[in-house]
Amino acid sequence: MTETLTNWAGNITYTTKELHRPHTHDALAALVAESARVRVLGSGHSFNTIAEPGDDGVLLSLTALPPTVDVDSTARAVRVAGGVRYAELARRVHEHGFALHNMASLPHISVAGSVATGTHGSGVTNGSLASAVREVEIVTADGSTVTIGRDDTRFDGAVTSLGALGVVTALTLDLEPDFEVSQHVFTELPLAGLDFETVAATAYSVSLFTDWGRPGFRQVWLKRRTDQPLPDFPWAAPATEAMHPVPGMPAENCTQQFGVPGPWHERLPHFRAEFTPSSGAELQSEYLLPRPHALAALHAVDAIREHIAPLLQICEVRTVAADRQWLSPAYGRDTVALHFTWVEDTAAVLPVVRRVEEALEPFDPRPHWGKVFTTPGEVLRGRYPRLDDFRALAETMDPAGKFTNTFVRDFVHPLS
Ligand SMILES: Cc1cc2nc3c(=O)[nH]c(=O)nc-3n(C[C@H](O)[C@H](O)[C@H](O)COP(=O)(O)OP(=O)(O)OC[C@H]3O[C@@H](n4cnc5c(N)ncnc54)[C@H](O)[C@@H]3O)c2cc1C
Repeated sequence: MTETLTNWAGNITYTTKELHRPHTHDALAALVAESARVRVLGSGHSFNTIAEPGDDGVLLSLTALPPTVDVDSTARAVRVAGGVRYAELARRVHEHGFALHNMASLPHISVAGSVATGTHGSGVTNGSLASAVREVEIVTADGSTVTIGRDDTRFDGAVTSLGALGVVTALTLDLEPDFEVSQHVFTELPLAGLDFETVAATAYSVSLFTDWGRPGFRQVWLKRRTDQPLPDFPWAAPATEAMHPVPGMPAENCTQQFGVPGPWHERLPHFRAEFTPSSGAELQSEYLLPRPHALAALHAVDAIREHIAPLLQICEVRTVAADRQWLSPAYGRDTVALHFTWVEDTAAVLPVVRRVEEALEPFDPRPHWGKVFTTPGEVLRGRYPRLDDFRALAETMDPAGKFTNTFVRDFVHPLS
């Protein structure tokens, strides 16, 4: 993020000129109470207008609040402040001898912003990052603070909430005992004859990468917990040099490969925490659909690859276990996620995004909330069976729609 108030990719310029950074919880609560419209900006890594507060709105950052990370070893939990990023959280959790169950490809994203959009890593048994949340603390429209835990009937709407319920000032996350991971990269996995279920389950976290320049996958990244057996991977050849998923990009930005064991937080992301890209020359789209459709969906995308390849930096295929958050793209279904990193040319990319959506249409895809998509609101709303429950929750917690913006209105909450 820069002070010109754009997102990380620079494809969105927020209409507001000022980013408010309260220094105390009370100052934040007062600002919320006195403002008509409020949105929070996390680390700004979303590619659409999800954080946009609108002309009359206030855009808030939590980066001036204390970056608290409190590990409770007895409860096997960590309480993390709303502005903290995964890189810092992971480092502190590891120092205490614990681990998070999973991480996204990049550790520089904020925890609150990530769980708000259903951000995920990979692994057939790994739920989205929001699935580790056991309690969420929210400053609501009148400035009061509510805490919602797993035993609260509101909980399943309160974590992946697109920022529409209030300002998340703290989250409490499950921890597990520290573990090590070794990362193994393979090259040229054919699409023909692919047994997706078996390949996706060969390691704790599996990612397939392709440029769609020709059929099949250019790379496969296996992230194996060292307390689990070394997988046999007969379908592709081991890489002979360190790899970056995007052809031509330097591998030194990537986490250690060649099976060298290391701490979970230095292997589960693809990119090193100490490599901090301040902005990105890219756009991203991603579609999450039921895992049994994985192979058919991959063939559907393969059929239009000549339209995709010229604008694509890389496509990544991951899996996500079903979760219970009403607005999570992985809600209620074990999921395959087809991700596309495009070149940064919005006008050229959008028609191809639309083509990808048409190809995936038969498989009931839910777009990633933080990425570029063209699916109309009325279509998207039909893909979330608990949407009415979320609307009812939002209307109760935020009756005047203080935390609603155009994005939320279009896709979730057309009445406000
Ligand atoms: C390089 C890159 C790699 C990525 N890798 C992955 C990946 O591996 N997996 C994946 O699923 N996604 C990935 N993403 C997408 C990213 O995880 C999401 O866009 C995520 O929301 C980013 O978090 P953020 O803090 O930057 O959120 P922002 O973009 O700042 O905000 C997202 C939403 O969260 C809300 N919000 C943020 N903080 C708060 C708060 N404290 N209280 C209330 N609402 C809040 C905002 O209002 C907004 O609605 C990636 C993005 C980039 C740029």
